[in-house]
Amino acid sequence: MSIDTADRADSKTTDRQALLVSACLLGQRVRYDGNHAQLANTDLMAQLQASFILIPICPELLGGLSTPRPPAEISQQKDKIEVISITGTNLTKAFDTGARRAGDLVLHHGIKWALLKSKSPSCGRGSVYDGSFTGRLRAGDGVTAQYIQGLGVQVFNEHEIEALLTGLVRSAIKYPISYSCFSTASRLPTLSRHS
Ligand code: SF4
Repeated sequence: MSIDTADRADSKTTDRQALLVSACLLGQRVRYDGNHAQLANTDLMAQLQASFILIPICPELLGGLSTPRPPAEISQQKDKIEVISITGTNLTKAFDTGARRAGDLVLHHGIKWALLKSKSPSCGRGSVYDGSFTGRLRAGDGVTAQYIQGLGVQVFNEHEIEALLTGLVRSAIKYPISYSCFSTASRLPTLSRHS
């Protein structure tokens, strides 16, 4: 996957805010099994494109992994947290590298918002697979989601797009000068149900 941020408008010089987005949600086949997880709701997708400059990332590819690859989960035992593939390979370093590179993008583009794939050991927020490869979830964040939240980024998943758009509108009301694209009610995004 290439990250074509160089030819995108810098969010610091446009009305729209930059939104870091899991590349698989945008239809890029970067998941471990070679598939994507493209958002099915085209209406919400259009609202996102109208409201933000979308910056796709796949932290696992940024960390040097390839597609396809064995699935991996976060293993937490006492104070030790590692990312282990289903074949037993310790991938913690690659996941950390991906998170740091995502953080570099956040700092470079002044990114305050992210839409990341739920449950992923990199991108998940709030719950992730528990390390048993049985489909069970536990409370916690993926490596990149946790890292960029530490940099001040508000992270949402694909089931929280309405909340993301609402949060953007609230920010526009709170800071009407900085977010001039939402300075009139007629330009507020029209929210609809996410299927
Ligand atoms: S690391 Fe994130 S962007 Fe890459 S495939 Fe997994 S969920 Fe999608």
